[in-house]
Amino acid sequence: MKTQAQLIAKFGNPEINRLPFENKWMKVWIVPADIRKAIPAMPQKIYLNKLIEAPLDKTLRRLIALGLHEEIKTWDGCFNIRKKRGSGGISAHAFGIAVDLNAATNPFRGSVTWSAQFLKVWRDIGWICGADWSAASRDGMHFQWEGF
Ligand SMILES: [Zn+2]
Repeated sequence: MKTQAQLIAKFGNPEINRLPFENKWMKVWIVPADIRKAIPAMPQKIYLNKLIEAPLDKTLRRLIALGLHEEIKTWDGCFNIRKKRGSGGISAHAFGIAVDLNAATNPFRGSVTWSAQFLKVWRDIGWICGADWSAASRDGMHFQWEGF
């Protein structure tokens, strides 16, 4: 997993230089209509880091092709300038490179409801799944882009 120093080296520090960060890296992705039709939980627009647009689109389409998209019940956000839960570091959400899904049933340090096949799709494309983290930091709702 990328360290905080690596993320800041690439993107700058969104806590300190928010507007330059947003101007350079963030965009509004209009979620394609066919994805929204298949996954009603997806919003019309997602404000995300440009680097995750293509992999998120690819991941959702592969889930749909495999019939695994039905596991997605709620969209729980992407960009959010905040600290990591349970530590002082900057959250991947502050860089716009993480998304949360099904937060209510996959809470921080709590249960994970995703199927093994669902998680494998995300990993295979290059995401880190918070579901894979050890119990003290497990975050089943959390999918973080690592492919850069
Ligand atoms: Zn998250």
